[in-house]
Amino acid sequence: KWGQLRQRLLKTVGQNNYTTWIEPLEFAHLQDGVAIFNVPTNFMGNYVSQNFADLILYELNTSGTKVQRVAFRVAANVPVRPAPRVVAPETPTPAAESTARHDALQAAPLDARFTFDSFVVGKPNELAHAAARRVSEGGPVTFNPLVLYGGVGLGKTHLMHAIAWDLRARKPELNVLYLSAEQFMYRFVQALRERKMMDFKELFRSVDVLMVDDVQFIAGKDSTQEEFFHTFNALVDQNKQIIISADRAPGEIKDLEDRVKSRLQCGLVVDLHPTDYELRLGILQTKVQQYRDSYPGLEIANGVLEFLAQRISTNVRVLEGALTRLFAFASLVGREIDMELTQDCLADVLRASERKITVEEIQRKVSDYYNIRLSDIIGPKRLRSYARPRQVAMYLAKQLTSRSLPEIGRRFGGRDHTTVMHGVKRIEELKLTDGQIAEDVEMLRRTLEA
Ligand code: ADP
Ligand code: MG
Repeated sequence: KWGQLRQRLLKTVGQNNYTTWIEPLEFAHLQDGVAIFNVPTNFMGNYVSQNFADLILYELNTSGTKVQRVAFRVAANVPVRPAPRVVAPETPTPAAESTARHDALQAAPLDARFTFDSFVVGKPNELAHAAARRVSEGGPVTFNPLVLYGGVGLGKTHLMHAIAWDLRARKPELNVLYLSAEQFMYRFVQALRERKMMDFKELFRSVDVLMVDDVQFIAGKDSTQEEFFHTFNALVDQNKQIIISADRAPGEIKDLEDRVKSRLQCGLVVDLHPTDYELRLGILQTKVQQYRDSYPGLEIANGVLEFLAQRISTNVRVLEGALTRLFAFASLVGREIDMELTQDCLADVLRASERKITVEEIQRKVSDYYNIRLSDIIGPKRLRSYARPRQVAMYLAKQLTSRSLPEIGRRFGGRDHTTVMHGVKRIEELKLTDGQIAEDVEMLRRTLEA
């Protein structure tokens, strides 16, 4: 029974989560409506109970086992999965060596759910998506490297895995290596310790497509950056495709060496913008469709998805988590998913995303950023060195709050709404022609939304 359940959990949580968290669980027994599982460590027990308990409960109940609660207890005999190893294993035998090499290439498993098919395209990500497709298909113009950047949970990893899956299917002979920058560093450090730099270099120079996720991680780590730089150059020289992701534009990554920055910038750099309402709604609808396939009969009242798309932040992961919880909860209590249930079930998520950016906050951040006084932003001075930051603040207020132009004007020392409109327009124009302004606005938006 647990075996079948595990299969369904695998489908819902994905291979990565499954291997790490579900597979090591050992069903112990059922007592007074409580299903007890053995886990190898306390940490695991806590994590699973926080993140997967409701799903497990849901699966148990829908498969006919009536359970009120699931509990996890630490049992000594459950094997602990070895932590990722940084130190040397014993000297490998030749046979072990070839599998080790193979393992090394496979080190970061690909998430089965992250494909092009499951990626919902909208305005904020259409460029990134098109570029990823193009690189994957190897069209006439190839971009090398392709750099995808954007905030947390906007689909960078999803797109990279999608490219890897697509290449695997299309060109199985290619050696495609996907790993995080962190893993790159661990490999490098390990190679240094074991005096296996030759192997390391050979391995990385033998790939056809190298994908490094979250490259900002190596900022400030000098020797890793140096090695990354050499790997990068060696591959580009051989015309091998490189795909990189980062949480911000390469030029904005602090403590990243200039030569690495400039390498990253010489390909195609595209950003994933924060999701907008339409994209969020599209993603929710797609996910609901996927859930329907696994759990027929679940009903969602009109307006619920629209409400979620409106109210939940731009991070897609949060959005997905909310939906998963909603489904699990609804089926547990045997109710239709309507507004009331949604409000009950997601009260904490909704409250957390309620944090609203205020005009005052924007004015404060902008004055800090440009190192001028708050009173100069609000006050009447017409000096250029105040006027420009003031316009930036007006622009951000229009973009990030729901205040109307007259309301914004009032908060800028009682200015007229046409003044605000003019300011907003001016910044919109400058963003296109003046790189510095574009960067300022982007940085400010990021810190305000953080
Ligand atoms: P990042 O690497 O940018 O932090 P991820 O790629 O891990 O973000 O995405 C977070 C979650 O959101 C994943 O489960 C991913 O499948 C989902 N996701 C993000 N963007 C989309 C999209 N456009 N369509 C469908 N799912 C998405
Ligand atoms: Mg990621």
